[in-house]
Amino acid sequence: MGLGLKCLSGGAGWLLLPPQSVQTLENLADLARLDPAALRAIEIPEAWARRRKHYPYCPRCAFLNPEDVGSPVWKRRWLAPAVVPCEVHATPLRAIPCARVRRCLNLAQLLAQVSRYEREPRRESFD
Ligand SMILES: [Zn+2]
Repeated sequence: MGLGLKCLSGGAGWLLLPPQSVQTLENLADLARLDPAALRAIEIPEAWARRRKHYPYCPRCAFLNPEDVGSPVWKRRWLAPAVVPCEVHATPLRAIPCARVRRCLNLAQLLAQVSRYEREPRRESFD
């Protein structure tokens, strides 16, 4: 049985979950033993599913989740097309190149990549 999962090509598809059918979401939730509502909450709107060169993030939130210090976090709102400041720290978001995100297979790898990127000299732009 196929899941009927819709994925985005290019970029880090696992990070950008486009809207799924109710059946697909229920199948995924069964596999992951999650509430389908939790998966629905991480879907991105179709309008956000665009090619991008960078992924914005707040390094302070990414490495020290203010809501649960034991859990890493990547916020859905960071994936919105409009670049906004961090709502917790009121600081501008930073941006990691999509090519570096594409290499990552999960959030742990993504945070390790961001950590390496944070130690490099700044050279970023949003688009
Ligand atoms: Zn923050």
